[in-house]
Amino acid sequence: MEFQPQLILIYFAPIFFFCVALEWWLLHRRAGERPKHVQDSANYQFIDTFSNACLAGMHEIGDALAAIGVIALYEWLFGFRLFDISASVWSFLLLVLLQDFCYYWFHRASHRIRWMWASHVVHHSSERLNFSTAFRQSFTYPISGMWVFWLPLVIIGFEPMQVVAAVMLSLAYQFFIHTQWVNKLGWAEKIFNTPSHHRVHHARNPEYIDRNYAGTFIIWDKLFGTFVEERDDLPCAYGITKQVHSHNPFFLTLHEWRDMFTDAFSGDKTPWQRFKHFWAPPEWQPDSEEAPSTPDVKAESGL
Ligand SMILES: [Zn+2]
Ligand SMILES: [Zn+2]
Repeated sequence: MEFQPQLILIYFAPIFFFCVALEWWLLHRRAGERPKHVQDSANYQFIDTFSNACLAGMHEIGDALAAIGVIALYEWLFGFRLFDISASVWSFLLLVLLQDFCYYWFHRASHRIRWMWASHVVHHSSERLNFSTAFRQSFTYPISGMWVFWLPLVIIGFEPMQVVAAVMLSLAYQFFIHTQWVNKLGWAEKIFNTPSHHRVHHARNPEYIDRNYAGTFIIWDKLFGTFVEERDDLPCAYGITKQVHSHNPFFLTLHEWRDMFTDAFSGDKTPWQRFKHFWAPPEWQPDSEEAPSTPDVKAESGL
């Protein structure tokens, strides 16, 4: 069968399943040898893992359908490319780096723009973190506009299927950082996104939340001020600030969309405030605009 870049995650599936089985065996059959930093939130719970697997299946179906339109759009835009880039190992390495830059901004926007958070919240709503959490994705990413973030690469002149391959390889890499078993990895922590950095990303502790948006390379967080190191004295508390106590894949996929539209169409608000619910950060509410409050300003200035 011909190699198809959009199927890279499917090609990797046997390795992913092997890692899940190995991690389950280590956690549940070798519990006595468990390193101190591994919390109970690493444990596999049938309903959580089953829900993650269902979400992965739904996501793959959604992506397969969206890929038809997105690849056609990329191919059409490629006709208007700015440069002719000849395919080589070097051009692909440059593409991997630029792709990762685009991924960083996609991921940061996914946390700070509610229209995008409505999809991405699915990945964060489990209170557990293990390899199976990587499967926990939403089928609504194409509606949130994930595909927009890689358009510049096609317009620059990178061949669309190579762009798709670079995105898929990054997503495949990111499977391996969803584990608590692996502790810090020495020099690699400085350059790569690692399990330690990504544990911080999945944590809801105020010190960790909305940090470490990296895909493959952690350099972007360091450059743009969103990097935080995992601390031994501050274990990660996983999940989201408004915990969702459900394992129903459809509810997990749709609850934030429901809440966003409810916020936009309910209450006594101006049209601008209603509209703002779609693009403001997820926690934004009209009354949050009344900040900064005078007492805080006084307290800070010592008055
Ligand atoms: Zn995230
Ligand atoms: Zn993750």
